[in-house]
Amino acid sequence: MKITSIRPWLVKSDASYWGEYLFVEVTTDEGISGWGEITTTTKLANRALCTILRQIGLAVAGEDPARIEHLWHKVFRSFTYMGSRGAAVECVSAIDIALWDIRGKVLGKPIYELLGGPVRDEISLYTHPNQAKFTSKEAVVREIRDIVESGHTGLKFDPFPHQGPSVDGVARERRDGYLDGSMTRKDEREAAELTALIRETAGPNVDILIDAHGRFDVPTAIRLCRSLEEAGQIDWFEEPCPPESLNALKQVRDKVSAPISWGERGHTKW
Ligand SMILES: [Mg+2]
Repeated sequence: MKITSIRPWLVKSDASYWGEYLFVEVTTDEGISGWGEITTTTKLANRALCTILRQIGLAVAGEDPARIEHLWHKVFRSFTYMGSRGAAVECVSAIDIALWDIRGKVLGKPIYELLGGPVRDEISLYTHPNQAKFTSKEAVVREIRDIVESGHTGLKFDPFPHQGPSVDGVARERRDGYLDGSMTRKDEREAAELTALIRETAGPNVDILIDAHGRFDVPTAIRLCRSLEEAGQIDWFEEPCPPESLNALKQVRDKVSAPISWGERGHTKW
């Protein structure tokens, strides 16, 4: 069996928060295809990935799709001077998932059986409130009640005012100064009030998870996390600082009580 192409499929869908999904199909000369999915957070990024994927397709055509590790390194290492995370790794991961899919189909087994068997029967999931509905206090309460009544035991949101509607998939910054990692006292107070309302509505048994989206400098992140710990007994504080600095992350970690969640922009198996 040989790989014949790598085809990106950009699929329009209202079910996606960003209005589209990016699926990746690895085709073979024996009619079996494997599928991966790497939808990113902007349309610009999705389209850039499509271009890269087509180029990778030219580089791996004719290869044996069963040589999954070999192909991982072949693609990953061809981007070595570009960086070890970001677009290159998005593409590597999509192809890796698709190659495992092909392997499972060829052997007629679920992929978890090829990777050492299942390790748990269930995993916990959280959900997101639709923050576009947060137009009044009552609307927030309604949205959170709906989530809790649906049986979810964890919910995650970003309480910090920052982005306007996206234009062509590029988020528009709402306020000057966003890019310097700071936050005004007014916005901080609004975030604390929203988090307190959500905790009050959700009750003590629901995990309240905060996503800071890697936006803050160290003193701001520490201040914000502490203020939300007090306002809403939060259960995690995700990506307090830009992902490039582990030192910044450690400084925040040392000064707050809430667990820090991190990793969605710290790609690679390392
Ligand atoms: Mg996140």
